[in-house]
Parts: sequence; C-alpha cells; structure tokens
Amino acid sequence: MKIEDEAAKEFLNSILASMQGGLFTIDKDARITSFNRGAERITGFKKEEVLNKKCYTVLRSNLCKSKCRLKRTLETGESMSNFDATIRNKAGTEIPVNVTTSALRSANDEIIGALEIFRDLRERKRLWEELREERDKAQQYLSVARVVIVALDLEGRVTLINKMGCEVLGYKEEEIIGNNWFDFCIPAKTRHKVREIFLKLIAAEFKAAECYENPILTKDGEERIIAWHNTLLRDNAGQVIGTLSSGEDITERKRTEAELIRSEKLASIGQLAAGVAHEVNNPLAGILVYIKLLLKKYKQNTLQTEDTEKQLEKIGKETERCSRIIKNLLDFSRQTEVTLRPTDMNKVIDATFSIIGHQISLDNITVEKRLSTSLPLILVDFDQIQQALMNIMLNAAQAMPSGGDLTITTSVAADVKIGDSIQNAIRIDISDTGVGIPKENLDKLFTPFFTTKEKGKGVGLGLSVVHGIIERHHGKIEIESNPGTGTTFSIYLGIIDEEKD
Ligand code: ADP
Repeated sequence: MKIEDEAAKEFLNSILASMQGGLFTIDKDARITSFNRGAERITGFKKEEVLNKKCYTVLRSNLCKSKCRLKRTLETGESMSNFDATIRNKAGTEIPVNVTTSALRSANDEIIGALEIFRDLRERKRLWEELREERDKAQQYLSVARVVIVALDLEGRVTLINKMGCEVLGYKEEEIIGNNWFDFCIPAKTRHKVREIFLKLIAAEFKAAECYENPILTKDGEERIIAWHNTLLRDNAGQVIGTLSSGEDITERKRTEAELIRSEKLASIGQLAAGVAHEVNNPLAGILVYIKLLLKKYKQNTLQTEDTEKQLEKIGKETERCSRIIKNLLDFSRQTEVTLRPTDMNKVIDATFSIIGHQISLDNITVEKRLSTSLPLILVDFDQIQQALMNIMLNAAQAMPSGGDLTITTSVAADVKIGDSIQNAIRIDISDTGVGIPKENLDKLFTPFFTTKEKGKGVGLGLSVVHGIIERHHGKIEIESNPGTGTTFSIYLGIIDEEKD
C-alpha cells in the first residue's frame, strides 16, 4: 500500500469515527465490512463482533425479511433515503432509526457492496413526546378557561381559538381557523374601528395589554359584547407576528347595567317632576294669592294704586321665575338631534365670551385664554357647545364672588378613552380659583335640580344641560376640584378621522 493510500484511509476512518450517526458497509454477500463508532454506540456491538457477519443476523431490522432496502440497493444500485425502521441492539431492544442506503462501486462502476447510515431516533422521539405532552396540556388549559382566547396573525387571520371562543361564537374550530377575524366575527358597523385598533396594536402604538370592549357576531347573527385583553406575539428575534387576546363575554353584565341606568334615568325623571312641581308651585301659589287679593279689592272698589303696582310687580317677578324654570327645563330636555358642522373650537369660546364676558368682568374676574393655534376642526353643534361652555363659565364666575381668575385652555389630547373607544380629542379646560366643590357633592353635580345656590340664583339644571350636550356629542367631562382653591372642568370631544369621513 502506498503512503498516500495509508493517509487517505486514516483520514476516511477519522471521519467515520467522528460521525454522530451509525454507519456500516457490506459486501455483495451482505457481510459487514466496516462498522463505525456511531454504529457501536447505537447497537452496543463492537466492530470485532460483527465484522464478516451477515448484517441481518446481527442487526435484525424489522425490514430484513421482506423489504430489505440494503438488498435492493445491492441489486439495483439505487439509493434509498430517509426511511424509518427499527433495529435490535445487542441487548435485544428495538431501536427506532432513520436509514439511508447507497451502493458502493468499484473503479469500473461495478456494485461491490452497499453502505447504510442510520440515526438513532430515540432522542428525537422523546423530544416529540415532551412537545406533544406540553401541547396537550396547553390545549387543556385553553379549553377549560372560561374566557375566549383568540390568536391572530399580522393579516388578522385566526391562528388559534379555544373551546370557549367556539362556544360563544357558535362555530366549530375548523370553521374559524384561517378566516379573517374582522370579516368573519366582527359586525360590519364596528369592523373598521376594531380593525384600526388591531393595526395600532401590532404597530405597537398602544400599550398591548390595554382593555377594549367590542361586539362580536355569532353564527346565529347575535351580537355579544366582549371585553378584551391583548398581548403581542413575537418570534425569537422579537418581531411581532400577531396578537393573543383573552376576552370575557360581558353581554349580560352590560344588559344589567343598561337596565340599571334606565331605572336610574326613570328615577331622575321622577326627581325632575318632583323638582319642577316644587319649583313652579311656589311662585304659582304667590301669583294666585296676589291675583285673589287684587280681584277682591277690585270687587270692593278699593284698589289702591301704589299697592296695586307693587303687587302686580310681584306677579310679574314670580311669572318670570316660572318662565326661567321652564326655559331651563326645555334646554335640559331638548332631545333634538345635534346639527354637526366642522367647527373651530376657539371660535366657540370667543363667541361664548362675547355673550357673557361683560358680566364676568363686572364681577372682578380676570379672564385668561390659552387657546391652541393648531386645533383641527371638529364636528359639533356650535350653539349647543356654546351653551355648555356658557353654563360652566357662569358657574365658575359664581364660584368666585369676590373675584379671581378664570382660565380657558384648549389643546389636542392623544389616545383618550371615551366610552369604549380610544381616540384623539380636543380638550377644553375651564379653571376657576373659586370656592371649589366638596368631595361629597362631586357625584351629584349632574343630577337635575342639585344646587347649593340660594333661591333665585340657581335652579340646579345648568350642569345637567351640559352633561346632556356632551353626551350627545359622544364626548366626556371630567371635574377636578379642591375646596378653597378652585375647580377645573375638562371637556373632551373626539376628533373625527378626516380620511374616513
Ligand atoms: P346651578 O348653577 O343652578 O346651581 P348647576 O347644575 O349649574 O346648577 O350646578 C350645580 C351645582 O354645582 C352648583 O349649585 C354648585 O354647587 C356646583 N358647581 C358647579 N360649578 C361649580 C364651580 N365652578 N365651583 C364650585 N361649585 C360649582
């Protein structure tokens, strides 16, 4: 043997020895001609024990008898790759292996034997088992959870839904998986909005765990309201690949709440009626007394001019009071649709001042306007918003009987939660340095006829009117007050997306 051949053989042997998998070769009579260390490790046989033995007497594969791939390779020269089989190790235990065979050829291309490479699948099988167990466990958790769990990919397609989700929606899992969640499960009227929230979520513009409520559409066409908690799903590299949401069906709770609100409304209508009766009865009683008196004097022909004048003036005053109450009531109960027009909020504020500014300045109040110059136009009813601002500003002025500062600020507020939705809004702050509102009164401010003002000064309907107006505009009001220091009323009105509308 030449020196180069020796070196080549050694090189080859060291490759075979370092291979993870098992490898052996056979000659044309199926006698084992080589057996690497991997094969020794997997089978437990030593090379010396198997050399020159027929391979099927040693390894006793399940395919030996009928479908021996090595035999076929020997006969046809074809390679067989990646088939699963079992072999027996020295102790007689069956070992799952993945096998590839190829023919060995001489220099003149004659088949002189075959080679088999086999990989031990026990480790892989064990990992698969563990994975399957984990998956089954996770599926069990998902199916016992009494919340809806849905995973969406970046296109909004459903990649996972649990048993509760299927129950609420009335679909089978396979009917939902792969469908676009928004087209399939969200009612058309809210689809655009909900999809927009999803897009903002995956663009990581929102805090992902934020809670949202939105209706879903069941197979029967019924709408159910779900309160969602969302998380982003990321791959190993940290890239967002979708969302995972858990949702609670709050339809029943909402219904009960709505009923409660309705009954509270009924109660406040009752309160309103009682209030009206009380407020209007007193002046009416006064009017009646004076009319009776005047009538009596008239009949007796004893009408005295000076007294008569005073009594008629009283009748006039009491009548005016009644009509003021009626006007307030009308404002309060005005349920007409709002007439929305693109409006510059700063202009509404200027217009409000042109009506009440004079009155305020007489009360020794310094007015400061901090109006943002970059407000977008918003769709509101100019007159109604003006009325709301006027009521709040007049209250502020009345809260500063010996003067003070009234500050009106406008700004744009991003991602404000109004009702169930998150939107950009125009914020109007009206701050005074007045007497403030005691904590226990804060809840009552919007109740009709709640007033702390002396008779003749307040009817207690101003803030109820404000509340109605802001509600009709789908906005919200917040109040911050420190008794003795002052009060800030903040109004938020949603900015409509220009592209959409
Ligand atoms: P009215 O002004 O007729 O009393 P409102 O509904 O406008 O009715 O106001 C209800 C009550 O809220 C007032 O009586 C007052 O106690 C309180 N209030 C409203 N605004 C302010 C304010 N800026 N500072 C202190 N108290 C206020």
